[in-house]
Amino acid sequence: ALARLSRMKKLPSVTRDGVAITLHANVELPMEMATVARSGATGIGLLRTEFMFMNRKDIPDEDEQYRDLRDIVAAMNGGLVTIRTLDIGGEKAAAQLTDGFGDSTASALGLRGIRLSLAKPAILETQFAAILRAGAHGPVRILLPMVSTIDEVRHARDILARVVRRLKRKRVKIAPTPPPIGVMIEVPSAALSADALAQSADFFAIGSNDLTQYTLAIDRTDERVAHLYDPLHPAVLRLIQFSTEAAWRARKPVSICGEMAGDPRFCALLLGLGFRELSMAPGSIGLVKQRIRDIELAAAQRRAQVIMDQIDAGRIAMLLDDFNALA
Ligand code: PEP
Ligand code: MG
Repeated sequence: ALARLSRMKKLPSVTRDGVAITLHANVELPMEMATVARSGATGIGLLRTEFMFMNRKDIPDEDEQYRDLRDIVAAMNGGLVTIRTLDIGGEKAAAQLTDGFGDSTASALGLRGIRLSLAKPAILETQFAAILRAGAHGPVRILLPMVSTIDEVRHARDILARVVRRLKRKRVKIAPTPPPIGVMIEVPSAALSADALAQSADFFAIGSNDLTQYTLAIDRTDERVAHLYDPLHPAVLRLIQFSTEAAWRARKPVSICGEMAGDPRFCALLLGLGFRELSMAPGSIGLVKQRIRDIELAAAQRRAQVIMDQIDAGRIAMLLDDFNALA
């Protein structure tokens, strides 16, 4: 099985009926880049930059952030790198960034993600500067976490424009064109206003982990309710479908980067719903590609249609598992 997986790396990521699916990696730290290279990922769909701030007492300065990002961008050899701004808060702690905000940042509903970055714009400016400089070494995109209103996107764009002007004035080498700014769709309000967000975002990345948590009101870290955590709940699937359709209407790219994207079980459903770009832990890419190569897209689309008519998560799971058992 291992030999078959390592052969997978060289095979194209296409469905049985010939539709190409982009497979990107989720990355947390620069030291993972060797694994990413081995995985066959053609880009990074989610760089969780907060991990470069966690488990340390200080805050990395612009040069340190730049060097880490530059190394990652250079290692991708021209492959697209999607850099998410700090997603501290909730289950991801970094006390040196949240001192003075009390318990709010530890709460799933508190000052976290883009909210924290906008409350501490100096940190966001530094991160934008590091990203812009790394963008001189290869294509990058910027992704904003935990967006819940369109104002957050506008505000982040204004800050980015200010940083671009400052770096240009100082003749610092940066990305030739300003990187696209995308939005994580991982809060129900973002999903339900995806049509409006698509006007101000350049792309979407669906975060099914948090979208499931917030839609079902289930703390993703609480084991006592873990049995209720289900991305196949029709409410979650409908929000995903609504968001992807809004992206297509606005002709904006949309990918999915939650854990469900890396699980071969969900592959046919995601492809059937229209996803052509999946981002996952590097270790999952071989297995997911293997699954993609067995799927006939036309059949997956028909099955997804049947699934989206269901009102019961158990029935959805059955319809999906039956499909997976056939092909
Ligand atoms: C998600 O919420 O699905 C996601 C990809 O972000 P994270 O897991 O880092 O919260
Ligand atoms: Mg998330």
